[in-house]
Amino acid sequence: MPASEFDLIRRYFTRPAPARDDVVLGVGDDCALLAPPPGQGLAVSMDLLVGGVHFLFDTEPETLGHKALAVNLSDLAAMGAEPAWATLGLALPEVDDAWLEAFCRGFFGLAQAHGVALVGGDTTRGPLAVAVQVHGFVPLEMALRRDGARPGDQVFVTGTPGDAALALAALQGRVQLPEADMAASRQRLERPLPRLRQGLELRGLATAAIDVSDGLAQDLGHILERSGTGARLAVDALPLSPALAALEREQALALALGGGDDYELCFTAPPDRVAELMSLAAAWDCPCTGIGEIVAAPGLDCRRDDGRPYRAGRLGYDHFA
Ligand code: ADP
Ligand code: MG
Repeated sequence: MPASEFDLIRRYFTRPAPARDDVVLGVGDDCALLAPPPGQGLAVSMDLLVGGVHFLFDTEPETLGHKALAVNLSDLAAMGAEPAWATLGLALPEVDDAWLEAFCRGFFGLAQAHGVALVGGDTTRGPLAVAVQVHGFVPLEMALRRDGARPGDQVFVTGTPGDAALALAALQGRVQLPEADMAASRQRLERPLPRLRQGLELRGLATAAIDVSDGLAQDLGHILERSGTGARLAVDALPLSPALAALEREQALALALGGGDDYELCFTAPPDRVAELMSLAAAWDCPCTGIGEIVAAPGLDCRRDDGRPYRAGRLGYDHFA
């Protein structure tokens, strides 16, 4: 970046941060100086989004700013961590003020909503890419790891999985949606809301958790693998948004199980804690639905209501090909 790099950082990335007394020094020095609260573990996660690979070059910059932070906060949610700080690495082909302003609206809008302080980063000229790292706190023994599921635990999912993949299919012209359904699905694709509250409330309750970024079946598979278990999934119990429920049943199920980018939480809880879970979840702003059970035999056994196996071969986008 030319000399204007410092200008750019001052203009766009030096903001009155949310009041946090754990930020001793933020943007502007050689390092940020941070004071994690005593007794808490530090949960750290990073996602790198490369233009043309992870997002289309014509993605609205506001959407990109929101989503780059949202996907990272979703990882903190899935760990049961409380978000605190973020750092931002940006490679920009040119300095485009309108683009940067819109990107910052998306990024800082979400950061403010969750009290996250941007404490540093790096800015350079190069092919468009956005790297965000987030830092959050969780007592180490309370973290929602992937390896704690046990046979008999019930499997749950927040929200309505498949909506983001439905929006993508519609944008690509592979499915037609009425206007209202398109708007709702598109919101889910472009403005995912990290389930931070849910992650925090699941501390000490969920035995394992993951956020759904690559599709429910695949991400639940990671829990099963790490926990050394399998699961039986009742695919007809999957919660479907109105837009998804209006599709042909097989298409809807394929998207709900195979579609990525929803950033919902999939987690397991012991059977004797389910009543407590459901009373917590009654106050959430999204559904929380039991969709199956952890079993000892490895693998994901998907069943329809009539007991027929639901074949994994039907999962994913190919359904619209
Ligand atoms: P250095 O040469 O020491 O790496 P820089 O000139 O790269 O310093 O950055 C100056 C300050 O601006 C640092 O505090 C850095 O963390 C911050 N910064 C640079 N780019 C960003 C960005 N995209 N977002 C947030 N902070 C940034
Ligand atoms: Mg630097």
